[in-house]
Amino acid sequence: MKNKIIFATGNEGKMKEIRLILRDLGREILSMEEAGFKGNIVESGTTFAENAEIKARAVWEQTGGTVLADDSGLVIDYLGGEPGVYSARYLETEPYSVKNRVLIQRLEGAEGEKRAARFVCNIAAVLPDGRVLHTQAAMEGLIAREPAGEGGFGYDPILYLPEYGKTSAELAIDEKNKISHRGKALEMMKEALKAALEGNDEDINRK
Ligand code: IMP
Repeated sequence: MKNKIIFATGNEGKMKEIRLILRDLGREILSMEEAGFKGNIVESGTTFAENAEIKARAVWEQTGGTVLADDSGLVIDYLGGEPGVYSARYLETEPYSVKNRVLIQRLEGAEGEKRAARFVCNIAAVLPDGRVLHTQAAMEGLIAREPAGEGGFGYDPILYLPEYGKTSAELAIDEKNKISHRGKALEMMKEALKAALEGNDEDINRK
């Protein structure tokens, strides 16, 4: 496992995006299932960074190697940062069409910049020697008055991006990947890993 990169997710869509972005690291990239991870991970942290590290460490304890994990969510200023780290669990039994309508209702009376919100993504990497790296990025916008767009997933239809004049769900997938919280945090992690793993490769080659 020493030369492999494992990503702690069960989501195939995320794996596709990750393989594409990290391919020029020249390492084999495995999902946690492919790496043989078994078990449940409880995301008990109160920040994106804590949760990302909890997931990466849980898999690393079983597999070793270099393990990456991400944690992301929608942060709405007017709601004191809600749903934040609880984005996946917010109104858990309801579909996103309902969650999105409820959030828009909760912003009634909020005008202009008061509607500021962002998707945030933190990526943690646990290196073969146990060191931890983090990168974090955001995609800034405003909560829309109406959901719009069919692309993406989750809260994409209600994050309006003033620079683009559309919601995140109205962006083409490759357009979104270039500017998204996850895309940017992954690009930053790729650079951090290049620097951190170079030293390790030299160690491996010397042995
Ligand atoms: P995670 O997969 O545990 O990080 O949960 C992230 C949750 O945040 C998702 O289930 C969505 O509700 C929300 N989320 C994160 N990124 C996005 C995005 O790009 N678009 C829409 N919703 C997102």
